[in-house]
Parts: sequence; structure tokens; C-alpha cells
Amino acid sequence: MMQAPLAGRKSADQKTLVEVSGLYFGGREFIVAAGPCAVETCEQMDVIAKGISGCGARLLRGGAYKPRTSPYDFQGLAEEGVPILAETGHRYGLAVVTEVVAPDHVAAVAAQVDMLQIGTRNMSNFELLKAVGRSGKPCLLKRGMSATLEELVMAAEYIMAHGNSHVVLCERGIRTFERYTRNTLDLSAVPALKELTHLPVVVDPSHGTGKRSLVRPMALAAAAAGADGLLLEVHHDPDHSWTGDGRQSLTIEELRRLMFELRTILPALGRTLNYRFSVDEQSRTEVMISGQENHLSLAGVMPG
Ligand code: PEP
Ligand code: MN
Repeated sequence: MMQAPLAGRKSADQKTLVEVSGLYFGGREFIVAAGPCAVETCEQMDVIAKGISGCGARLLRGGAYKPRTSPYDFQGLAEEGVPILAETGHRYGLAVVTEVVAPDHVAAVAAQVDMLQIGTRNMSNFELLKAVGRSGKPCLLKRGMSATLEELVMAAEYIMAHGNSHVVLCERGIRTFERYTRNTLDLSAVPALKELTHLPVVVDPSHGTGKRSLVRPMALAAAAAGADGLLLEVHHDPDHSWTGDGRQSLTIEELRRLMFELRTILPALGRTLNYRFSVDEQSRTEVMISGQENHLSLAGVMPG
């Protein structure tokens, strides 16, 4: 392992909580971020934000700047998409996360959202890592599709070395010879990263599999592997999403079923959804547990 004095784990019990506007990644609460691949319209975001908040998700995701393989594909609403995401999410009490693709965009986007995402194609864009470091904004750092775990940890080290310790790592699948799935979701990365670092780790089974039918089982497996949360693509009308990622997006009803199952299995893993606790600011550890499930009711939605 290369030298990672900031991101590397120094002792077996070292664990960092990363706060994102009152939510804590890396604590007892299992945090679910959900939303479309791309911000398309105000109406689309409203339906999705309402749906996911009703299911118990805590963050609204949605790309405004979309790094697309083809220059002829929809590139995202860019700066017009960011306020749509932010206003819609905040209206429903959701924190918001969106991708930044260029150092020049970081300050303007950081001023509007709760968390910045660095996508797989930019994990090794060192100028972007430095700019997000300087912004001080919580960051969801996705693993490069061909990056080793060590390279991911060193990318986190870049952000931290530039002044930002609020980094959450995300396993989103890597390129292998397998073609049935879009990527190969490396769930062993979850416990491995927890050995290597003290940072929270979340899993994106949407890009990790590329197939809607595989998202739910892999999301449950991610929870079992010790992930601190999920990043999920959810669309109210996936067949008409403006990016090809509709095929890996859950519908809101599918998200509801997944949340129901998570609510059932997480307690066996010492975790829960919608957990209330307070944090000792000095030690950044949980000090008081007042945890009750919140008011969300899933009565009547027992999955068939
Ligand atoms: C995304 O989250 O929409 C995205 C583009 O993900 P990735 O960078 O993992 O491909
Ligand atoms: Mn996507």
C-alpha cells in the first residue's frame, strides 16, 4: 500500500463519520441515495423526489453534467440542471448529490448541493480531485472502472490532502471480461476498503450491474457486505429516461420493495434505516442513540 496518511486506516477501530447536511455516512444509519441518472425536467424530478422520499431514501441524486461515451448523446442540462435538482430535493427534505466533471464548475455546484460526486471516468482527474478538495464539500468518490483499490484510496488521499476530509467511497463495478453485466460489481471491495481506510463505503448496484433485475439482490448483498449505504438509479418511467440508464433504473415501486427488505435485514447487521443519533463533534463518534424508526409507514406494501 502506498503512503496514505490521511485516507489510510491507522487502527482496527478507526472509523470516520462523514456528515452531509445532518446525515452521517459511516454510522448506524444505512443511507440510501436515489434518483435518476440525469436531471431531465422539473416535473420528472418532482415525481421522483416525492416517490423516493416516501420510500425512506435520504438523498436525491441526479446528473446535470453527464460524462457520456458519445458526444452525440444527451449531455445533461449542465448549469440549468443543478438548481432543479437542489430545489426539488430540498423541498422534500432530501439532501442532494450531483456529479462535477470540471474543476471550473466545482465552486458554483458546491454552493447549491449537499454533496459532490466524482464519477468513475474522473477518479484519476487529479485537478478535479484537488478542486473538490479545496471546496471542502462532502464528496462521493466513485471507483474508476479500471482502478485498483489502492488507486481509489490514493484518489481520496488527493481530496483530503487538499483540505477536505469529508470523503465517502463508492464501489460501482469494474471492467472485466464478463459481458452479461455492464460491469462486475466487486463487493469484496467493501470489506477490503474498510481494512484499508477509515472512510465510509457505499455501493452503486445500478452501474455495477447495468440490469434492473440485478439491482435489488446486489443492493441487499451490499448491505450484508457491510456497506454504509447505496447509490441507486430510480426513474418513474425508466423506459423513457433520456439516458440509456433506464435499463438499470428501479421504478419507485421497486425501490419501495427494496427499502422494505432493507428495513428487515439491516437490524440483523447492526444497522438501520432512518436512525436518529447525535454525534460528538470532537471525536466524530456516535454518542447517543435515540433511534426510533421515523414516521414512515410501509403498511400495505408487503412485497409479493
Ligand atoms: C452516475 O452515477 O450517473 C454515473 C455516471 O456513474 P459512474 O461514474 O459510476 O459511471
Ligand atoms: Mn447513470
